[in-house]
Amino acid sequence: MRLCRLPLALLLVACTPEASVPVERPPPPRKVAKMAAPRPAAPLPPPPPALPPASAPAPSYDRAKDLEERKQLAKAELGAKTDTEVVEGVFLVAAPGGRAALGGAIDVTRRALAAYFNGRFHRRPERVVSVYLFGSAAPYDAHCKKLWKTKCDSPYGFYLASARTIVMNVGPGIGTLTHELVHPLVEADFPTAPDWINEGIASLFEQFHLPRPGEIRGSKNWRHPRLAAALGSAKEREHASLPALFAMNDTEFRGPREDLNYATARYLCQWLDERGLLWRFYQRWRDTAATDPTGAQAFLEVTGQTPAQANAQWVRWVRAL
Ligand SMILES: [Zn+2]
Repeated sequence: MRLCRLPLALLLVACTPEASVPVERPPPPRKVAKMAAPRPAAPLPPPPPALPPASAPAPSYDRAKDLEERKQLAKAELGAKTDTEVVEGVFLVAAPGGRAALGGAIDVTRRALAAYFNGRFHRRPERVVSVYLFGSAAPYDAHCKKLWKTKCDSPYGFYLASARTIVMNVGPGIGTLTHELVHPLVEADFPTAPDWINEGIASLFEQFHLPRPGEIRGSKNWRHPRLAAALGSAKEREHASLPALFAMNDTEFRGPREDLNYATARYLCQWLDERGLLWRFYQRWRDTAATDPTGAQAFLEVTGQTPAQANAQWVRWVRAL
């Protein structure tokens, strides 16, 4: 979390870095919900019994009331033609100008969230999250200018945690939407998760496939060249390693090598996911974080190797990708 580079009115608004740093973005061409051939998928671990929300809202919180107020706010901010749809009971998707122009993006939101909740994230956000979908840069930037007197910091989209609102320009591509949707889910499911695993999972789904209902997979994307270059550099190789990642605090993650750190985290997540281990690892870490804050023990239990032992194999896989 860091403060956005936004005007005075928002100086106290904490947001995810993609609101202020363009690292989350050379967008893929707009290929909404490309139905790629399914990858072999190891079965996901069964969901545990219903868990309580990670951070219970104030007793006075009324979700139905919040939903209704957010619907009204969306129409007031985005125009009377705005269509809204509640997805998974807690995401209020708002399409300015109506759903006809944004049906693909709404459909992806619906299908991606169904997949995220299918044995991946167990605790759902208790409070409503608004998702504003703009079809192009002009109305997207106009929205930021209207609210904050400046165009949006990121040309693609951002999650304003304090307002529980994702604001998206889906014109350049929809990978940022599937990325940003992950953040409120991690916030609810694994609130103490370090940034590297939060952003690693989110970035994995920038290049996504929805091979069947309840399934979402990530594949190679624009972050790969940065990682491959670092692995070929004597100066940077040690930074682009699994031991470095597992030792990385949030300050270091957001430091001068932030772009590389995103890539390292993303391709660890893809490597694990292709082996059917990502969600076992994530959930094991989440459930034992009090005694395993770095996740190294969870990684050992799930993969049978320490991060250092797995590194050479992971590097070979990255280079061959
Ligand atoms: Zn992010």
